[in-house]
Amino acid sequence: MVAQSLLAAISAEAAKHNARPISAKISCGRLYSINEEILRFAFKAIAKGTPCEGTKLVIEQKPLQAKCRSCEKTFEVDFNSEINCPDCKSSDLEMLPDSPLLLEEIELEELVP
Ligand SMILES: [Zn+2]
Repeated sequence: MVAQSLLAAISAEAAKHNARPISAKISCGRLYSINEEILRFAFKAIAKGTPCEGTKLVIEQKPLQAKCRSCEKTFEVDFNSEINCPDCKSSDLEMLPDSPLLLEEIELEELVP
């Protein structure tokens, strides 16, 4: 489960620095965005009673990308308009795989001994 592994990763990092995690920045592909609320909710639930209780999750969405088969340009896909290569206007495109869920950085507050 995603929330569980996030919690484990954040806890491990915090323990290593003997600090309390304030917030964690996560990036994920567009196709994960639907789970954002669920992820926050699940994380909050399992973080109760752990050093991660109250840690804020900052979720950044990575846009979906496509590659043009004609000129090899890689560009961000905008689903609100027709999808064509911005350079050569070709519609012969290859969709690139969605970005995985990544833990980008953790903001830590050092514990006073
Ligand atoms: Zn092109």
